Amino acid sequence: MESNKRCFENRYADYSGSLLAGQGNEAVVPVVVATVERILKKVPLDAAECDGGLYDGPAGVAYALYYVSECPLFAARRDAYLKRAKHIIDVSVKCVDAEQDKNLRVAFLLGGAGIYAVAAMVYKAMGLSDFVKPLTKFRNLWEVCAPIHFLECGSDELFVGRAGYLCAALVLKQRLGIEILSTEQIKAICQAIIESGKQYARKKRKPFPLMYSYYGTEYLGAAHGLSSILQMALSYQDVLSPGERELVWQSVDFLMNQEQNCNWPAELGTMIERENELVHWCHGAPGVAYLFAKAYLINKRPQYLDTCIRCAELVWQKGLLKKGPGICHGVAGSAYVFLLLYRLTGNSKYIYRAQRFAEFLFTEEFKAGSSSVNRIYSLFEGLSGTVCFLVDLLQPDKSEFPLFSVFT
Ligand SMILES: [Zn+2]
Repeated sequence: MESNKRCFENRYADYSGSLLAGQGNEAVVPVVVATVERILKKVPLDAAECDGGLYDGPAGVAYALYYVSECPLFAARRDAYLKRAKHIIDVSVKCVDAEQDKNLRVAFLLGGAGIYAVAAMVYKAMGLSDFVKPLTKFRNLWEVCAPIHFLECGSDELFVGRAGYLCAALVLKQRLGIEILSTEQIKAICQAIIESGKQYARKKRKPFPLMYSYYGTEYLGAAHGLSSILQMALSYQDVLSPGERELVWQSVDFLMNQEQNCNWPAELGTMIERENELVHWCHGAPGVAYLFAKAYLINKRPQYLDTCIRCAELVWQKGLLKKGPGICHGVAGSAYVFLLLYRLTGNSKYIYRAQRFAEFLFTEEFKAGSSSVNRIYSLFEGLSGTVCFLVDLLQPDKSEFPLFSVFT
């Protein structure tokens, strides 16, 4: 096999009928606890260092602590983890409250909306009625992102745009069990997404119905691109008119047809070069898979499931990434695709594959050969996302990529 500068060679034998013996609760629970301790030693608690939002700021650690504490296997540590989570998220909430730029406050993964959402989850889990405070702040952001061109860089993507705000609302509804936004509010945001995509596609003379850009680049992947925008439109398709729904589904099929050997280029219309192929959640099949999973869950067309299966095959080949343990462009992000496929198919092969990737995270080869991560505590690039993945490996029937659910 040729060597690849972006990934380690996967030398593991594929599934042959049995799961790995050494990866039961008694082995993984202590690893999670030790990793949480490692994270807590690194996470800054100073207001001067609370930037980065859920993506790579301290707020993402609060989410990971909350997520671990929700798993019954960690019941003994639940209160302690939630207390730490509250401490961390309260600092972030204070920073966001002081933020003058309301457009930055509305951002999901890089700003305030995500921080308010996680604060509401943590407070609710602790039984504090105060959870309505951050929830109200979250709800009030609705008006900020309703205007069609509210951001100059691109108003629709996941990290700072409308798709992110809708994604946060989806997770909040799932976690708190209450309505977050009114149907009219959701409808208005979805209509802005569709109108914005129509306008852009028309202006740029694209031969398909909806397209978007972020800082001038027409991304296709989950991070800033078409796939997560469409995924959110599908998640709320009940509020769309039949005409709007048709545009969304046409766009889903358009994106499906952009596949190049089980992967998608980061940018529309470019060819994937073998040397520079990205197999990341942020750019490529490991993130695009969630759109087709959502499409399959809605209408059960086999072509969508087949697309997800091809994504998972590519990730098995090229997903032992050298960019750290995280979920954005690291090994845990790759492994989450296997957990997704397990939930879609029930096939234990995918649990086995996820177990192998978890095992690899603790090998010398990984430690020696992967690039260092700036904020090792972070949710998307560091160990907080890894912790979420390890917890999900223990509860694969409930597993979901952090803050990016397709099963609600
Ligand atoms: Zn990334």
